[in-house]
Amino acid sequence: MAGIYLHIPFCKHKCTYCDFTSFPEKLCFSEAYMACLIKEIEQRGKQLSRMTFDTVYFGGGTPSVVDPIYVAAAVKQIKKSFRLAPDAEITIEMNPGTVSEEKIAIYKRAGINRFSVGLQSAIDEQLEEVGRIHNVRDYMYCASLLKGENFSADIMLGLKGQTKEDVRKTVEVAVMSGASHISMYALTPEDGTPIYTDYLNGELPDSDEVAELYEYGYALLKERGFERYEVSNFCKKGKESKHNLNYWKRGEYIGLGVSASSFLGNKRFTNTFDLDEYMKCVLSGFPPVIESEDVSESDAKFEFVMLALRTARGLSAKEYKSAFHSEWKEDFSAAYRKTAEYLEEEGDVARIKEKYLYVQNSILSEYMNG
Ligand code: SF4
Repeated sequence: MAGIYLHIPFCKHKCTYCDFTSFPEKLCFSEAYMACLIKEIEQRGKQLSRMTFDTVYFGGGTPSVVDPIYVAAAVKQIKKSFRLAPDAEITIEMNPGTVSEEKIAIYKRAGINRFSVGLQSAIDEQLEEVGRIHNVRDYMYCASLLKGENFSADIMLGLKGQTKEDVRKTVEVAVMSGASHISMYALTPEDGTPIYTDYLNGELPDSDEVAELYEYGYALLKERGFERYEVSNFCKKGKESKHNLNYWKRGEYIGLGVSASSFLGNKRFTNTFDLDEYMKCVLSGFPPVIESEDVSESDAKFEFVMLALRTARGLSAKEYKSAFHSEWKEDFSAAYRKTAEYLEEEGDVARIKEKYLYVQNSILSEYMNG
């Protein structure tokens, strides 16, 4: 399986927790940027003409903030330049504050068949506090336009003052709106973002409180018929995000656009984070890549174990052996000894026990040292 990721680095306003590559003040360059993106699609497509891609994902930033005709043109160019599987999943991220009936109709006509909508919270004050441009009504309107479509809602945990009752309301809104997939992420206060000050001042819920909110949200989602297939991702039967599954299986992907990263063959490479540099490179026919590295075998093994253990499917010893010709329990014997009590094993598959899911980072960190 292989995926295509396209980064759209524009937003209307910067959220206080945002650490993504997005330039609200440069929205006026979106037309020029999309023209460059289409050029990069063409350039990369020529190099990768032998591969078949199963997923396409427009992420950001806020892809829905740019004129939808450019998004449609990008999809058209992808179909022309790359070989896509006939049932390819094509997703676009949308901010509920930027949607319209016409926009969604254009996306659908272009072939987009999956939508990822940032709800984050069903409490308007919390949305406002972190600088989101939408409110709950906007989300409901967006969901009404997506009725019958395959769409996902993002929910955030760890917001200032967030209670279990807030999480209950948010999960209810996401479920009732018809989302078939829900991503429930913990907010990570990154140094340099405005919310980091709140974190330093102790104004955000601590990790134990967030863990409690997660367990509570998880139980509600389970009750509503959502299955967990990765630590932060839940869905109705058969509605997993193929694009994310590919990442967790260490599948190959090409990233296009500013700051996008790729994993092809055994190489990882990343495009420049600078918007002007990106456009100059693409227009002069040079790859906008700033970093490239071969993944060592020990890193590849660690990635395989770490990504597989995060999923509900778990880590298959058979698959590990066929990828590396060795046994994972031997390659990571010290870490396995230390963490065995947190794992459940079934046949050749090992996974983290449900009650330890939320502390999976400390379990997985053991594997970093082999
Ligand atoms: S909408 Fe998303 S990408 Fe844009 S500023 Fe907010 S968090 Fe960042």
